[in-house]
Amino acid sequence: MVANPSILFPDAAAQAGAVSQAQHSERLLAVDSVNLEYRTRERIVRATHNVSFDVYGGDRFVLLGPSGCGKSTLLKAVAGFIAPHSGTISLDGEPVRGPGADRIVVFQEFDQLPPWKTVQQNVMFPLRTAKKLGRAEAKERALHYLEKVGLAAFADAYPHTLSGGMKQRVAIARALAMEPRVLLMDEPFAALDALTRRKMQEELLRLWEETHFTLLFVTHSIEEALVVGNRILLLSPHPGRVRAELNSHQYSHDSFGRIDFQRSVAHIHRLLFGETEAAQ
Ligand code: ADP
Ligand code: MG
Repeated sequence: MVANPSILFPDAAAQAGAVSQAQHSERLLAVDSVNLEYRTRERIVRATHNVSFDVYGGDRFVLLGPSGCGKSTLLKAVAGFIAPHSGTISLDGEPVRGPGADRIVVFQEFDQLPPWKTVQQNVMFPLRTAKKLGRAEAKERALHYLEKVGLAAFADAYPHTLSGGMKQRVAIARALAMEPRVLLMDEPFAALDALTRRKMQEELLRLWEETHFTLLFVTHSIEEALVVGNRILLLSPHPGRVRAELNSHQYSHDSFGRIDFQRSVAHIHRLLFGETEAAQ
């Protein structure tokens, strides 16, 4: 069941704006009735059940749901690492058949960067191998994106000398430098302390303001979903099914503590976990 977003939030004018914006940009990613399964020798684990959603150009689309509901599995399927058991995933109208440079993933873990490469070499590497850029061009583009995340001064540093937040910035620079059709992020800030996490969310939004890249972002934090996303897909606990889809473009960090924001948090909580828990 996909609830009508206008029922979820009373701000009708803002809703109308978001909907017309989505209608005017092109549909990049189409996920249609996707069932994802893990087959082990003993059993079959169904990770998602009949999940459908569309991501439009410039969307900051968030998959939100409790741990184990299949968010990472969905992201891996979009990235092309896992094939759906049934249903289809297509990008620009072409079925996804495997990984590609048009979809780059940023993971939660801080160890995504080969430690023997400097920061700049880390950003350059996929540009050289997947994008086939020449050395000078790759170097220039790497520096450009390192500047964007405020790490140009650390270009020659090795990952182990960086904080967790800085490593994530390098991973984001590396992903953005590839200029993918869709940037995929799997709880990229979940392992950071609260202050750094907030700073990274703000930086991500600032980067988005600059280039309006298309983002598919996974989180289990309701607040993070509301702040980072312009649209949110709510997934039920295991196996993940679509509970609702809603618009959230009206929120930013300034919304924290505001009554409409708190109402939205409570409303999503109810949708995810039922009436009883939210009432406590
Ligand atoms: P989330 O990212 O929302 O926390 P996951 O996509 O990681 O959820 O997992 C969804 C479900 O699939 C969970 O029940 C999990 O235990 C199961 N699962 C994940 N990876 C594997 C695997 N490699 N083999 C078997 N089951 C898995
Ligand atoms: Mg996960």
